[in-house]
Amino acid sequence: NRQWILRKRPVGDIAPGDLEFAETAIRPLEAGEVLIRNLYLSLDPTNRIWMSDQDQYLPPVELGQVMRGGTIGVVEASRSQRFPEGTIVNAGLSGWQAYTVGHEGMLNAVPALPGVPLTAYMSVLGATGLTAWFGMTDIGRPQPGETVVVSAAAGAVGSVAGQIAKLRGARVIGIAGGPKKCAWLTDELGFDGAIDYKTEDVGAALDRLCPNGIDVNFENVGGAIMDAVVGRMNNFGRMPLCGMISGYNAEGAAGGPSDFGRVLMHRLLIKGFIVIDYLPRAAEAFAELAPLVLEGKLKWKAHVVDGLENAADAVQRLFTGDHDGKLLVRVSPE
Ligand code: NDP
Repeated sequence: NRQWILRKRPVGDIAPGDLEFAETAIRPLEAGEVLIRNLYLSLDPTNRIWMSDQDQYLPPVELGQVMRGGTIGVVEASRSQRFPEGTIVNAGLSGWQAYTVGHEGMLNAVPALPGVPLTAYMSVLGATGLTAWFGMTDIGRPQPGETVVVSAAAGAVGSVAGQIAKLRGARVIGIAGGPKKCAWLTDELGFDGAIDYKTEDVGAALDRLCPNGIDVNFENVGGAIMDAVVGRMNNFGRMPLCGMISGYNAEGAAGGPSDFGRVLMHRLLIKGFIVIDYLPRAAEAFAELAPLVLEGKLKWKAHVVDGLENAADAVQRLFTGDHDGKLLVRVSPE
């Protein structure tokens, strides 16, 4: 097998040597197990959190263990009646590795929708799509005519979250890095405005684009961007707190809004959530998202990096923004 092993907990950015690419043996299958040749590996901002031993929602990856990550693969050898050879399976958080030995109890067959590529099940119809859908519909609950702001809006979660709010009849403003990402939001996804936080004063741009204040803040970034948005939220505003990526490479706790009293005065709802808690309800999201994808009404992109050996370099792209859509690694050809 070929695997990425966590050797050191990163300090600041992930550095060479924190992860090691290793060759290991694959053990024989036991009854009920299958050998999966992984096709795609999902790279996610939370990978950086799992590498650390900070307080978090899953146990940290232990030093010396295979790096955790979501995969889709094809069954190459099977001792399971449920998953014969050739089945395409979602192997959950099976890890940064070429092959996975998985028990049938941990696997799900990937539904085959006509014309939908496998990369969709790793993005818009996978965990990031569910994150966007549950965060927006369960917590954000945008109403027609309300103003919604989404940060990291051109990313995998943000781009879907903003489109869902548009479909609910809201005005949607996205915050993203660079003119190309901002143009994609307004010209192709139908956002009502976009703010390039790398060149614009975010507060001034929010004042201009959200003259009636902000009702929903789908928060992906944290820090100064979150502060600028929270400072403009209306009474009874809702904030699904999805991520705080601006702090993931930093030491210490991520800061909250500078004026916490505003949460009281304006009766804001701020709710952190993790998609894992919503997995038992995945079918609800799938029922709306799959037809939208099939009809081309929900746009999405995958940025596929070739070769498992490039995973440790590629994951950095999430923190520089140097990717166009959901970041994936093609582990082996389909
Ligand atoms: P993306 O595809 O959005 O990639 C990450 C993006 O974050 C980058 O492209 C970059 O966009 C932006 N970014 C990175 N660093 C900064 C920074 N310092 N300031 C501002 N923007 C920054 O990844 P995902 O869609 O997978 O994740 C987006 C967010 O959602 C993350 O916070 C992640 O942790 C969270 N998440 C939460 C889940 C949950 O269950 N709660 C599940 C999945 C994701 P740009 O080029 O615009 O700067």
